[in-house]
Order: sequence, then structure tokens, then C-alpha cells
Amino acid sequence: MTSAQLYTIESIASLVGGEIYGNVNVKITSLSIDSRALQLPEESLFFAIVGERHDGHSYIADLYQKGVRAFVISESESTNSIDCPDAAFVLVDDTLLALQKLVCQHREKFTYPVIGITGSNGKTIVKEWLYQLLNESYSIVRSPKSYNSQVGVPLSVWNMSADAEMGIFEAGISQTGEMERLAEIIKPTIGVFTHLGDAHNENFKGKLHKLKEKIKLFSSCESIIYCSDEPLIGKALQVEYGNKKNNITWSRKHPADLKVVSERISGGQTHLELKSFNEKKIITVPFTDRASVDNAILCYLCLQSLRVSDQIISKQIQKLEPIAMRLEIKEGINDCTLINDYYNSDLGSLEIALDLANQQQTDKKTTLLLSDILQSGYSDKKLYALVAKMLEQKKVDRLIGVGEAISAQSKMFKCDTSFYRSTDVFLADLNRNQFKNELILIKGARPFHFERISNVLQYKAHQTVLEVNMSAMVHNLNYFRSLLTPSTKLVVMVKAFSYGSGSTEIANLLQYHRVDYLAVAIADEGVELRNAGVTIPIIVMNPEPHSFDTMIEYRLQPEIYNHSICADFEKALRRNGVKKYPIHIKLDTGMHRLGFVEDDLAQLGDTIKDNDHFFIQSIFSHLAGADESQHDDFTAQQIDLFNLWSEQIRKHFPYHIDKHILNSAGIERFPEAQFDMVRLGIGLYGVSATHQEKLMNVSSLKTTISQIKEVAKENTVGYGRKGQLQSDTRIGVIPIGYADGFNRKLSNGVGKVVVNGKLVPVVGNVCMDMSMIDLTNVNAKEGDAVTIFGDDYLVSKLAEQLDTIPYEILTTISRRVKRIYFQE
Ligand SMILES: *Cc1c(COP(=O)(O)O)cnc(C)c1O
Repeated sequence: MTSAQLYTIESIASLVGGEIYGNVNVKITSLSIDSRALQLPEESLFFAIVGERHDGHSYIADLYQKGVRAFVISESESTNSIDCPDAAFVLVDDTLLALQKLVCQHREKFTYPVIGITGSNGKTIVKEWLYQLLNESYSIVRSPKSYNSQVGVPLSVWNMSADAEMGIFEAGISQTGEMERLAEIIKPTIGVFTHLGDAHNENFKGKLHKLKEKIKLFSSCESIIYCSDEPLIGKALQVEYGNKKNNITWSRKHPADLKVVSERISGGQTHLELKSFNEKKIITVPFTDRASVDNAILCYLCLQSLRVSDQIISKQIQKLEPIAMRLEIKEGINDCTLINDYYNSDLGSLEIALDLANQQQTDKKTTLLLSDILQSGYSDKKLYALVAKMLEQKKVDRLIGVGEAISAQSKMFKCDTSFYRSTDVFLADLNRNQFKNELILIKGARPFHFERISNVLQYKAHQTVLEVNMSAMVHNLNYFRSLLTPSTKLVVMVKAFSYGSGSTEIANLLQYHRVDYLAVAIADEGVELRNAGVTIPIIVMNPEPHSFDTMIEYRLQPEIYNHSICADFEKALRRNGVKKYPIHIKLDTGMHRLGFVEDDLAQLGDTIKDNDHFFIQSIFSHLAGADESQHDDFTAQQIDLFNLWSEQIRKHFPYHIDKHILNSAGIERFPEAQFDMVRLGIGLYGVSATHQEKLMNVSSLKTTISQIKEVAKENTVGYGRKGQLQSDTRIGVIPIGYADGFNRKLSNGVGKVVVNGKLVPVVGNVCMDMSMIDLTNVNAKEGDAVTIFGDDYLVSKLAEQLDTIPYEILTTISRRVKRIYFQE
């Protein structure tokens, strides 16, 4: 994150109370904590944050290579490995605290209003809506996306500058004590509490405890805005602050500063009659769901407290636009990949989107379609100079600029460029053949309506898609990591098209998040990943002799499970003149699938010990029933056997050999058997053996209603006339059939799908490409979305219905169903 002002490293050292050594002449504008996301390396100060599993100190040499010259560190030895006479180091006790301390003091320089937002849900929406409502009147600094954590908040507040007139920041916590620190950094003058939510977090003693922690954000506030229908909030505020604050409340039920008198929904809008200080007010919110209406009311109160006139408030609220908080990766025309960023156009989110593009390390060229960036707080010259620098850094090959402002700065950019005055001009000029085999990032400010451009560049597939939530996947990855000791390595299973969710997109995401290995079933899957730029080690679980040369060429490491495969692989290594190649030994401890058995062990040690063509990277085995407690004795026996046998092998070798036996269920249920490494599979994709509530749903299979028809009773629907109607029925036709992976056993009411929040049954037999559903009891029209499984109907439910396991459902979704990836 870049601040508009410059700090010398000396002043930073004194602000954080650190000891400085090295080059004291470095100047800083940018703060960074992630070695993969750097904007202006020469002006960046890198904080080496020490997390449970990652230590920022290990990236210093790499960052130095990339041009970074200033570091805040807590371990002075970490700099020994590099020769960097022109770099500056500030040594402190705790780098995270130093980051927070620095930004606290940066914050002190500004006296303009700052709105601080907390609550369980809606923080980002309220923040973005306040921005939409206020940005014509104020120059605003706000948190990028949902940067609301212990590191996200300081990075956000660092953007405050003398040019701005207001700050809007959100704060979220996961532990006691955290909010006090965030409160000191944000120092809000107006506080907004969005929503209480149901506490479900073991780090707090309960709902009240969590609430009490959250409201600590408001200690510097003059006014606090919240809904008084949840009595706990008012009580907690009373206990913490007595009568010292100006509480501004709204309510549907009780007298309040703003009372909702009536609510009427029509034409996709909600018309509200409000009463404030005995005055009647009418506003229209362009949404109908309860959460949006609640959020709009909070914004209303916020604007009122800033003394914005009623007339302007109601005019602006009517124009509120939905906040799309996702980046989508889709297949484009002519082998292009599209990244649609519907998020606001600003520097912070441009950087996030470019990082996602880089994370998809394809060999495709990167093209950026960028509109004018509105309301940045910088002069155009400074703004587009920053953009130009960023494009260079993130290796953008081609820029297509749309808008008057960016066109005027055309000379700033070094890559291939073309400029258009408006979206209309661009579309009028567009030749679809200009785009071939490239990664196109489409990023426009709302008024430019870039969705019109993505519609043209998008590959039109049939309406059935599998949406893959990459943020949920990262959440699940982090959950499983939290169960591991810091030194335990992680293999992630991406076999079978990553359990149906896609191959290269997922592998690149996992590589970015620094997993240690990927594992695939067959060599071809590994080759595909290598071709897509995956460089981390890949294990092939089912290596076949005919593919050994390919495996060696692509640096794929085999699972070796018997003597003959071992001998064949050794021959291949000889043939290719390769030495010291890593292999993984599989032991059969009770699964009775692939693997060496007890009688093989002695010979195994002998063959490999004196062979310089390969070495044993790891020894592993697989559990047969880790997810079910009825097999726990057996599992324990497998673990003991594994330990015994692997030690027998290990003792023949002078070097260290990793051991691993746990799959996803094993990680959750037998954490004591982690050994050196674990193999995560289904858990990453959102299915848990024990703690489903800790995981987020990753994949959603969705389609839309193609046609609706009224069919009178006693008719039949579909093949074999199996769908016998008992009464007049509204039948919906959906374009998904068994060829898509919608199992034919779901015919005749066995299967259910979700339409507008309701579960409705399949009628008649599932066809190859289509199915029919009963819409009699639900409000639905043609074109409405249908969820086969997803957030509100989990794949495990569908699996139960089919008497199978989620694995089978996920992996049998056919390749013709387009995968759409998104990041929230
Ligand atoms: C598939 C697989 C895993 C992962 O299993 P999950 O149950 O999906 O976690 C682990 N190890 C081996 C050998 C596998 O084949």
C-alpha cells in the first residue's frame, strides 16, 4: 500500500522504536508484508511478519533481488545470508507491532472525519456504500476490499494523506485484544455497528464477550450508529461507555432516532417510511432483501450525522449499486482467459487483480483493459505514473485504456498500448480477432459498464456452470494448516481434475499459497500442470512405465509401490542419464491397494541403498477408514505398522526421509500422526469428516431454467412416460443431464434442486442433456438460476440422496460443464 507521502527510514526507525543499521538514506512511500505483491520495490518498506507457518524473514534475499531496500525485522541473523550494503534494516522486537505503531502515528497527523465500521456481516458493503454516497462531496480514503485484519487495517490507514477529506475503514477481529489495537490505528470519529450475528467462534466466550470486544473500536468516537432492535448492543455500549457517546439508533420495533414505520416492496425496490424526530421521511432503497435495507438505513443515519441534507440523502440512496465483491476467471473467445473484476476501480484493487493474473502463471500474454480510475485522490499525472509503474512491475504486455483521462496520459506507458475515449468507441472498433490466446484482465469503473465488453469477449457456453470459490478454498486450506504443527509439510491432492474443480487454476492458486507438493493420479495430469507454469514438486500416485520418460522430462516424482515398478523406473533413469532422482515409497499397511508389504522391506532397503540414480524423498501409506470412528482401532494399527516399517527402511539410509500417512479426515481426527507431512484432499474442496461448520463450500453446480410450461394432471413428462403427474403441474426444463454428471438415478423425485431458495423435485427421467423439475410451489420464471448443489444445498446432501460419497459427485461433473473461478 502506498501513501502519498515520503518517510525517511530514520524517521520510521524512531517512530517504531527500532534500531537502524545499513543504509540510512532510503526513503519510503509503500508498506508491504507480502513478498509476492509489491508495487514500488525501491520505495517499499517490507515488514518481515512472523506467522505460525510463514516467516517473512525468509523472503528478504528474494525481495532484495526484486529491488526492495528497506526491511523491518525481528531476527538480525536473517540478513546474514545476503550481501546488501545499500539496504536498510530496522530491528524491532515484534514486526507486526512495529507496523501498527508506525501507522498509529501516521494516523495522528490527520484531523478529518474517520468512519470506523465493525460487526459480523455487511462491513464491506456499508463501507462501499458510504463511499458511493459520499464521494461526490469528499475526497475519501478507504480500506481496499475487505482489508480489516491486524495487517489489513494498518495497510489501509497508511493510505491516509493530507489530500483526503475523510477516511472510511472496516475492522474485523478473531481474538480478544485485537480490537483495541485496531481502534488505536483507525481512531474513528464516527462508529458504525452493522450486525451482531450468531457468535460461533471458540476464541470468544460467547456472543456478549465478542460484542464487548468489537465495540472497543468506538472508544475514540463521538457518535455510534447501530440498530437497537438487538438489545445486547445498547446494553454493551452502556456498560463500556455510559453516557459519554452520542448513540444514534434505528429500529423497526421501538422508538429510536430513526423508526421504520412501514416497508413496502414493489418493482424490485423497497419503499420505506421513516420517522425521525417526529418528522416523516420517505426513502426508496433499490434492493429488496432485508440485509441490504438494513445496511442502507445505517448509511442513511451516517449521512444524517454528517449533516448531509435529506433531499440529497434520499436522491443518493436511490442510486446505490450492488457491490460485486468478486473477481471471476472465465474462458474467453479464441483461447483467451478473462478475468472480470467487477470491483471498484482503484489502485488497491487493480493491484489485487493483477496479482491474481500473475498467480495464474500461464504462458499467455497479459492484456489489461482499464478505464479511467475515478476519485483516486491523486492528480492524473501522479495516478497514471503509478499505474504505469505497476503495469511494468506486474509484467502487463498490453494496455487498452478506455476513457478521456487515461487516454490523455498515453505517453506514460511503456507496454503496447491503444486508447479509446469511451466504452462505445471501443466496442464500435472491436475486432474479436485482435484477442488470441491471452489473459485479459477487464477492470473498469462502474460508469464505464465494462460488462458490455466482457459479454463480447466471453466464450458462450451452455448455461450450466460449476462455480469454484477460490477464497473458500484458501479458507479451507488455512483451516487444515491450523491443525498442523508449523514444521509439518503439506501435499495437496489435485488428482482427477482437482476433484472436479479444475486443474491449472487450482494448482496455480496452491502454488501461490506455498503448499509443499501437489499430487496427481497419472503422469498426463502432471504434464498439464507443468505446462501451465507450476514449478513446485509434483508426485504421481499411479505411475505407468510407458510414461516414465515423460515424467523424468517434466520432473514428476513417482510413487513406487513394488519391486518391478522400482526396477522399471531405475531403467528409465539410466536411459536418461539422470541421477539422484526423488521417489516416494508406498507401503500397504491395511488398505490392500498399491504398496509394498512386510516381506518386501528387506529387499527394498538393499536395492535403493546403493543406487545413485534415485533417493527416497518420502515413505508413506494410506488409511482405509480414517473418517469413521468404528474403524479407529484399525486406523491406530495402520499407523503403528507404518511407523514400524518406515523406521526399518529409514535405518538403512544416512539422510532424512519424510514420513506421511494422513489424508483429510486423518488430519482432523488423528493429528498426533502427522509425522513430517500430510496429504490434503477432499477437505480443501469443502467436505469435512468432523467439522463441516469450519469449512466453506467451494463448488456450486448451477444452471438456469430454459422453459416453463403448465402440464395438466394425468399427463406424463419425459422418456418412458415415467413422470406421471398427480395434479396440474408447472414444469421447468433445465439444461443439465446425465452427460453433465447429473446422475440418472436422480430421476423421478429422488433428486432435488434449489430454485429461488426452495428445494424442488426432479420430474420424470433425467435425460442426456436436460431434466425437468416441478415448479408448482415456487415463484420462478424462465432464466432464473437453479442450484444443483452449492452453498445452500451441500454436495454431501446430494451424495446422501444418491447413496454415494461427495468425491464421486464432484469428480463426475463432465468437462463440458464450464468452470468459473472467483475470488471474493
Ligand atoms: C486421494 C488421496 C488422498 C486424499 O484423500 P482425501 O480423503 O480426499 O483427503 C491422500 N492420499 C492418497 C494416497 C490418495 O490417493
